[in-house]
Amino acid sequence: MQAIGIDIGGTKIAGALVDDDGRVLRSERRPTPAADPDAIVAHAVEIVRSLAGEGGIPPVGVVVPGFLDAQRERVYYAPNISFRDVPLRALLAEGLPGASIVIDNDANAAGWAEFRFGVGRGVSDMVLLTIGTGVGGAIVADGRLLRGGFGVAGEIGHASLVPDGLACGCGQHGCIEQYGSGRALLRFAGEIADAGGVGLQLAAARRADGALDATNVGRLIAEGDPGALAALGQLGGWLGRACASLGAVLDPRVFAFGGGVAAAGELLLEPIREAFHAHVPARGFHPEPDFRIAELVNDAGVVGAADLARARFAVG
Ligand SMILES: [Zn+2]
Repeated sequence: MQAIGIDIGGTKIAGALVDDDGRVLRSERRPTPAADPDAIVAHAVEIVRSLAGEGGIPPVGVVVPGFLDAQRERVYYAPNISFRDVPLRALLAEGLPGASIVIDNDANAAGWAEFRFGVGRGVSDMVLLTIGTGVGGAIVADGRLLRGGFGVAGEIGHASLVPDGLACGCGQHGCIEQYGSGRALLRFAGEIADAGGVGLQLAAARRADGALDATNVGRLIAEGDPGALAALGQLGGWLGRACASLGAVLDPRVFAFGGGVAAAGELLLEPIREAFHAHVPARGFHPEPDFRIAELVNDAGVVGAADLARARFAVG
């Protein structure tokens, strides 16, 4: 059974026709008219129609970067795409009469895709951390996405890590996102550049480019620069510490890492493992989860969205 997945991001709307092995058969994307919720819905509807072609419309999953209600009818809040309490499922159904439609959070969809077709295949319990500008998350427990009583579980980036730590955009202090995100990596890199010593190359890149960013820090990491690796080590240290707490609650077999920073691969996983072992409760007696890099980097959102729809509406 085929299904269509639509991933509405802050800059682009991606759509794909996906088969039941998670393969993308056809895809389409357009820029997001981020300030205009009605136009976003209209674009999503058009992409669905175009991907469906002449036949009927297969099940449709639409995911957004925001909070949804537990019934998955409305988007309460999606800061980057100006959705404020939008009845998204009903609006899509208006544009696609008779179609079977589910809506969900984009991080949940990415986690589901990794669980079904990527790095989490074959396990029942997995936690995905997406290390981009911020820190996103998804939790699969006992083979199901954990959505929580209000529909907003898995906001791992805003679990507290450092008491009275750095202020976070969510209004709290010391959230995982402030220590485990791409933005945190750049902050660590800047501090190391300021300190001199191993920060020499980082300081030189900052002078040459005007600022440290994902590109120059990523390049220095790939080149094995000791300062950039030290920054990545700090990031991994915080993430490993966070995973030790998450593991105590959720007991996943796999911790998966996606997002831009995950391109560092083993260089990121090593300090995460080390810190996990240092902070895990019942150290030495605790079964060891696997720490892995996510596999479905670009397609996770659309593949997960389609599969959530397929799973919801599959018959027999
Ligand atoms: Zn926060």
